[in-house]
Amino acid sequence: MNEIPSRLADVRRRIAAAAVAAGRAAEDVQLLAVSKTKPVEDILAAWSGGQRRFGENYLQDALPKIHALSAYPIEWHYIGRLQGNKTAEVAGNFAWVHSLDQLRHALRLDRQRPPELPPLMVCIQVNLSGETSKGGVSADALPELVAAVSELPGLRLRGLMTMPDPTYPGDRTRATFRRLHQLLSELRQSGRPLDTLSMGMSADLELAIAEGATIVRIGTDVFGPRGTH
Ligand SMILES: *Cc1c(COP(=O)(O)O)cnc(C)c1O
Repeated sequence: MNEIPSRLADVRRRIAAAAVAAGRAAEDVQLLAVSKTKPVEDILAAWSGGQRRFGENYLQDALPKIHALSAYPIEWHYIGRLQGNKTAEVAGNFAWVHSLDQLRHALRLDRQRPPELPPLMVCIQVNLSGETSKGGVSADALPELVAAVSELPGLRLRGLMTMPDPTYPGDRTRATFRRLHQLLSELRQSGRPLDTLSMGMSADLELAIAEGATIVRIGTDVFGPRGTH
């Protein structure tokens, strides 16, 4: 028996409950189902449960699945680290990128976005925990990157993304989400038309929604645990 549709329904209920608890509408929070490492059959099981947006972060793993599912109008989101020599495949196969953190990658994605496709929707990843191993621009460098990316016609900057240090206790995780929201508000006040806060995973989606998440990225609680990758 495939448990993915019922897991998906559980996650949707959690999202709706968290939104209502925060005084928000359930429709204001989108579920991105993170299907990294999971097979096409699992994606189709989620599809049959009504899911249309899927997130991947290993390009080698994602591309065969995207091609196998090309008959389905799935919205693919790239959430992994960008590499300079692989940006063309991201620009050609995804609708969204959540993990932009370098201008040189933005310039390549802009140039490589196929003209017949709509602009690539983009979130800039912000590193608010100072972990050097992790992607993301610093809060200090953010306004300059926002200004540069906003000029690129092949990209449409939608908002910000962050991943708190997974070792943080809940209060620090929540403070990190609050800080990302504050950064978005500052950019909006300076005239940037941004509407997206991509934050919250299986373990912390309630905290993220309480702090204003508009997209939560959920893998484990939709598809079950991943093997090591
Ligand atoms: C894997 C991953 C997720 C989903 O994590 P879960 O804890 O399995 O829900 C979300 N965002 C990014 C960037 C990821 O790599």
